[in-house]
Amino acid sequence: MIYIGCHLSVTDGYEAMGRTMSRFGGNTFAWFTRNPRGGKTKPVIPEDVDALRAHLEKEGFGPLVAHGSYTMNLCSASEQTRRNGLDMLAQDLTRMELVPGNLYNFHPGAHAGQGTEAGIQEIADALNQVLTQDMKTTVLLETMAGKGSEIGGSFEELREIIDRVTFSEKLGVCFDTCHTWDAGYDVVHDLDGVLQHFDDVIGLARLKAVHFNDTKNDRDSHKDRHEKLGQGFLGMEAMKRIALHPALAGLPFILETPNDDEGYIEEIRTVQSWLP
Ligand code: FE
Ligand code: FE
Ligand code: ZN
Repeated sequence: MIYIGCHLSVTDGYEAMGRTMSRFGGNTFAWFTRNPRGGKTKPVIPEDVDALRAHLEKEGFGPLVAHGSYTMNLCSASEQTRRNGLDMLAQDLTRMELVPGNLYNFHPGAHAGQGTEAGIQEIADALNQVLTQDMKTTVLLETMAGKGSEIGGSFEELREIIDRVTFSEKLGVCFDTCHTWDAGYDVVHDLDGVLQHFDDVIGLARLKAVHFNDTKNDRDSHKDRHEKLGQGFLGMEAMKRIALHPALAGLPFILETPNDDEGYIEEIRTVQSWLP
């Protein structure tokens, strides 16, 4: 069993997202904690959050997977950008505590010429400033395609970050199927091997969510362009094997495929048709 859902807009509030996902037929969802390109957030209305929590409980939703802004780069070469990123992260995590017990995923960052080692250290430093022992949110590092100077294109880099964080029990990983393939991991022909390698390097206990995307590009392309399920290089059979893999059982699967509402409803239905 897995949970399935897609990205939703927070524009109409928290409860609206829960109701929309139920209408879509899913039982988890993701949302950008702020405009994905950055910018301000709207104030949260406590009654709205309470209504969402009641809805999640009543409908048996799995963990939600919030997504940090794309502009947040904790290892930017610019100190100002790094500081802005840290502010965004701190605010986002404060807000996540209003919906305790859920997941917050972000892109580790791009070091922009400083080098992988410096980037990894800056990301860990930032996390060490915001993670606390009693927070109820698990923070996820997303597996990346390794585009440009992106950190997180290998499991080893994510492991390095985790190793340098004090409250590392608050950290997990979000496995993006498009990104891992684009980074070079063969999730089509050797899914068992890739997950075994993940287990060896990071540990499957850290795997807390899946971004369930097909990809427009061939393996090892380092491109990061998502495709609708079954219409890209992964293909429907591989997508199905991923959704049904015992190592991923019980996880929230988030669609980030290029779709409108109808497309998401259809993909959610497709995934559910595979589930026993
Ligand atoms: Fe992402
Ligand atoms: Fe993703
Ligand atoms: Zn992507």
